[in-house]
Amino acid sequence: MTRIFSGVKPTGHLTLGNYLGAVCRWAEVDQHRAEALFCIVDLHALTVDHDPGRVRRLSRQAATLLLASGLDPELCTVFVQSHVDEHARLSYLLECVATDGEMRRMIQYKEKAALERKRGGSVRLSLLTYPVLMAADILAYGTDEVPVGDDQTQHVELTRDLAVRFNQRYGHTFVVPRATRPEVAARVMNLQEPTSKMGKSDDVGPGVVYLLDEPGTVRKKIMRAVTDSGQDVEYDPQERPGVSNLLEILAACEGGDPEVLSGRYTSYGALKKDTADAVVELLGPVQDRHKQLCADPSYVEGVLRDGARRAREMARPTVDSAYEAIGL
Ligand code: ADP
Repeated sequence: MTRIFSGVKPTGHLTLGNYLGAVCRWAEVDQHRAEALFCIVDLHALTVDHDPGRVRRLSRQAATLLLASGLDPELCTVFVQSHVDEHARLSYLLECVATDGEMRRMIQYKEKAALERKRGGSVRLSLLTYPVLMAADILAYGTDEVPVGDDQTQHVELTRDLAVRFNQRYGHTFVVPRATRPEVAARVMNLQEPTSKMGKSDDVGPGVVYLLDEPGTVRKKIMRAVTDSGQDVEYDPQERPGVSNLLEILAACEGGDPEVLSGRYTSYGALKKDTADAVVELLGPVQDRHKQLCADPSYVEGVLRDGARRAREMARPTVDSAYEAIGL
């Protein structure tokens, strides 16, 4: 059976980008067609300045939101990365296969390191080695497919390179995975800066819709989304990123095609209104279920405990054989 692995970082509250680009497909498609693991990758949250209590709270909230979004522990494995030692164990071995040049070429590293320096901070070594830990997350489980948004495809390419290199040097150990991307909403953009992606680690701002935003807040953010000065509703992500982003969001909510949808509108106002309605409708059931799950924290606790046990059992044989293959 195909094995799928994907994850979400507890560095902020989950966004509409996370949901449309990743989580909704995990729930609607992936968990039904494959043996799927979904991980709260909390070790990755330590690569930048962090508050320990906040990381712990956000990990729990992310797990609760994944379940609220429809991940079913009977169908898939939901767990927290730091509960399974195999990730860190394997990461070290892969650091012995990766090169520093490869790491420095990663776009996300360059962007995030530049931001840290601009803020006057220093860059943690773990920010540089982050993609190696991500490779370990994926390879430990013999993963075939990694469903991710566009921002992560370079890291999955690196994971493939490391798997192939390890296998060639030390004997076949890892399955070589591939990235899969959603047809629409692979890159939901910030509503105020539609040339940057909507990221949860961004400072709380009017350009990011969070899954737990109240309907009124969602509407306000979408109605105030930046568009261009034109009038025509056209799908052209290069020239008209703001309008195209709204079309993508609406298409992802309705299951349609952004280009076809554009023909339905003659004004930006009507497009914004329909997009806001669609997002509010989409998030309502997730928020209701989230509220129910928050009333029963021991349920979520139990899911994560059981998930970690299952994940450990799946990862251990592969990681043990990597240790043996490399000469330990
Ligand atoms: P973030 O950048 O919000 O911290 P994560 O690294 O936790 O996101 O990613 C979780 C999943 O959500 C990944 O599969 C990632 O590709 C996807 N994702 C994140 N942001 C977006 C976005 N703006 N549009 C589409 N997919 C996204």
